[in-house]
Amino acid sequence: MKREETEILIAGLGPVGAALGVYLGRMGIKVIAIERDRDVYPLPRAAHLDHETMRLLHLAGGAEAVAAASQPLSAYEFRNAAGDLLMGFRPSGDLAPTGWPWTSMFHQPTLEHALRARLAELPSVSMRLGHALDAYGVAGDGVVARVEGDEGTYEIAARFIVGCDGGNSLVRRTAGIALDDLGFDEPWLVIDAVLKNGAERLTTVGLQHCDPARPVTSMPMAPGRHRWEFMLLDGERPEDVTSDEAIAAMLAPYADTPALDIERRAVYRFHALVAEKWRQGPVILAGDAAHQMPPFMGQGLCSGTRDAANLAWKIEAVLRGRAEDRLLDSYQAEREPHVRMITGMAVSMGKVVCTRSEEEARRRDEDMLARPEDKRMNGMLALDSIKSGILEGGGTVFPDPGHGATRLDDAAGYAPLLILREACDAARIFRDAGGFVALCVALPDKGGHLAALMGDADAILVRPDRYVFGTGDAAALTAAWAAYLASGVTEARASAA
Ligand SMILES: Cc1cc2nc3c(=O)[nH]c(=O)nc-3n(C[C@H](O)[C@H](O)[C@H](O)COP(=O)(O)OP(=O)(O)OC[C@H]3O[C@@H](n4cnc5c(N)ncnc54)[C@H](O)[C@@H]3O)c2cc1C
Repeated sequence: MKREETEILIAGLGPVGAALGVYLGRMGIKVIAIERDRDVYPLPRAAHLDHETMRLLHLAGGAEAVAAASQPLSAYEFRNAAGDLLMGFRPSGDLAPTGWPWTSMFHQPTLEHALRARLAELPSVSMRLGHALDAYGVAGDGVVARVEGDEGTYEIAARFIVGCDGGNSLVRRTAGIALDDLGFDEPWLVIDAVLKNGAERLTTVGLQHCDPARPVTSMPMAPGRHRWEFMLLDGERPEDVTSDEAIAAMLAPYADTPALDIERRAVYRFHALVAEKWRQGPVILAGDAAHQMPPFMGQGLCSGTRDAANLAWKIEAVLRGRAEDRLLDSYQAEREPHVRMITGMAVSMGKVVCTRSEEEARRRDEDMLARPEDKRMNGMLALDSIKSGILEGGGTVFPDPGHGATRLDDAAGYAPLLILREACDAARIFRDAGGFVALCVALPDKGGHLAALMGDADAILVRPDRYVFGTGDAAALTAAWAAYLASGVTEARASAA
């Protein structure tokens, strides 16, 4: 059987596999990326991206297409059956400190097309659509995979296989990696609609209608689209809720159905699952293959994008001999607590929404309405720090000092950055001889976020995934960074933040 060799085999080119492929390809890593389907899944799934994810997707070349066809939420509200506000979240200002809108309601296929276009431009990446992973086995310190392609079955030998193959991941199942089930899954009907007559939006507010008679989600999506989700009641079957009549009846309180083209009607069951191991030797999991969460925070794809950004620079450092293989163990150590934190929040929100007992809903309303209304409305939730790992006291997300106007990210790309206090040529951004650390000096600091982060320190070292590694003396920071990579730290070091 024909056998090819590569450094990285990515199995599955959903958004997470594609973003990972772009990060790796831009660093010159040899990647074969296989995807079972020829075309991008045409219907929307994720509707929301947070500002940090837009920034990471920008580093993968996918955010511009999304930004051109997305819209922000003015608020995200949870209201009871009577319409009273139970809790809500509202962005403070247009842009987050990353320079991207706090929320972008978008169209997932638009993102996936953009990422695949970037992948196709990279000389070290071979993108193979219509090629399915059939099986694989660990061989030496790598893997050998059997792939079903256009011209029959062939083998790929790779140093690492990254399973980005979604919730039913063959890569995960073959490795025998179990899922920790956090025990919250419910069936919902999702209805995606295209708005007719040039309508761009029905509302700017995302709504969870916490009505125990039937919980409902109403969510603006990309311009010209809207989503509703209806919880299935006990005993209801998919065929009971997906007929034209059933949908018209359910939508009637929320929209004028003749003004809609229903693009999708499907019953799906959300889950709260976390893989017990995200890396096992040469086998790595990312995105839905590693974790799935209820949709109430719109964070599944966001979390998968963070996985890709966390992994790629570590893989590159290991393959290029600058880091011990053990560095890859910091991937799960850093990402899993973050994913569990977000999944826990999504489960808590889901429990507020999915309350079906009238009595429980009455108690919930009484408790939540006891707070003054202005205290029930919050700023957007901060999801933006990791607590331990490859950090020298950092862990927060580095702001983009240009704050949307002139992006540092445009000039620097997906690379580690050393920001120095001394004033030099403002536009000077360069990498040192090893292509390892980019230096960037005296940046414009719109919003003052950089000055606030820097305080009295001389330097900030920022990781390629834009977490702050540490703030302090430049030489000490770069020495600590090199030491972390060289030793491949496995014990998480607590952040001082
Ligand atoms: C109704 C709904 C609403 C959601 N809303 C949001 C939201 O608002 N915000 C958010 O961030 N997330 C949201 N999500 C979650 C988000 O859509 C997923 O987390 C995201 O698509 C996962 O991306 P992925 O690349 O990990 O996996 P997938 O998108 O599932 O991609 C996996 C890919 O692997 C391929 N594949 C599988 N097996 C093989 C094989 N053997 N060989 C080759 N290829 C293979 C598949 O064809 C697929 O293309 C939502 C999901 C749903 C269902």
